[in-house]
Amino acid sequence: VTSDDCVVAVDVGGTTIKAALLDLSCNVVEHLRVPTGRHEGPIPVLDRVLTTVDRLVSVGASVGRPAVAVGIACLGAVDEEGGIALDSGNVGWRDLPLRRIVTDRTDLPVTLENDIRAGARAELCGPLAGLSPLLYVALGTGVGAAVSVNGALLRGAHHLAGELGHVVVDPAGRSCVCGARGCLEAEASGPAVEARYATATNQQRVAAAEVLARCRNGDPVARAVWDTTADCLARGLAAAVAVLDPAAIVVGGGVALAGPDLFEPLRSALRRHYRLGKPPPVMPARHTDASACLGAGLAAWELVQREVVWS
Ligand SMILES: [Zn+2]
Repeated sequence: VTSDDCVVAVDVGGTTIKAALLDLSCNVVEHLRVPTGRHEGPIPVLDRVLTTVDRLVSVGASVGRPAVAVGIACLGAVDEEGGIALDSGNVGWRDLPLRRIVTDRTDLPVTLENDIRAGARAELCGPLAGLSPLLYVALGTGVGAAVSVNGALLRGAHHLAGELGHVVVDPAGRSCVCGARGCLEAEASGPAVEARYATATNQQRVAAAEVLARCRNGDPVARAVWDTTADCLARGLAAAVAVLDPAAIVVGGGVALAGPDLFEPLRSALRRHYRLGKPPPVMPARHTDASACLGAGLAAWELVQREVVWS
């Protein structure tokens, strides 16, 4: 094992497979983005993941940066000890022994982790390491969260810890994919922003990024949509803060790219909804949509028990 060694990190998302060859400082030596292509079904998605791993392993071998482990972050419920993708939502994997499949393919040690917990692994280390507990929330197509206690990520008794997206923030709200109504995910995800704006303007749906652009250009309806979204998110966070009393909250995922347009109304709404004390600091994620891939790489390095030089 030498300082030339690398790990392969893969984040299997509903839209994109993001993968990278990472060195010991988690610098990116090579990276790939491949459409998940979930409409083709679960087996082609698996083939695409395996091909992506193969490509990065061979790139590493060709430049003298051999891969010594593989870390995989996967959406949905994951049995991390058993290495099984239990239910990967619209990718269609059920009880897939993904870790064994990748081990058989590469002959390397492999870790498998839920993508939100992997993202938290990357976001909650560095300057925040040493603080406990910490809450990481990812706002994207869905809403997920992870809790770190004394540096360890909570998994839950049924691999479902951190499902903050299914805390009800508006009992009369929108229908959620889980079957309930007014879940945080139905009220504060990217699609929720889009749906709320379309309803308010009685126009065709536009992307959440476009709603944000209109908000910045002074569109009062877009501003109100972002404020309502921030208020719903604050209700969910207030519940989590009451349970956990976290030292800090990190918010990532695509919706968090809105920056101050989200974080300023979010912080003031959290002060309205959490009254037991001063709410914890709410900060944007450092690695945005690369968090889960980086976290998968960190898990792979931890597996091969190398001290990761990470800042
Ligand atoms: Zn729900």
